[in-house]
Amino acid sequence: MADTIIVDISGGCPNCGNPDVHVPADYEEKTEIRCEKCGYAAPQAEFFAAKSD
Ligand SMILES: [Zn+2]
Repeated sequence: MADTIIVDISGGCPNCGNPDVHVPADYEEKTEIRCEKCGYAAPQAEFFAAKSD
């Protein structure tokens, strides 16, 4: 398996819609993702799972 992880961030921040969410290159399932725009932060699985559509 390659160690590159593809993350779908097309929805951006689920809180404010900011598409420019920084994802650490070495992130893993429990890495906290933070939106620089609104300050919303959550583990990535939760962050991106928060998208309603
Ligand atoms: Zn945000």
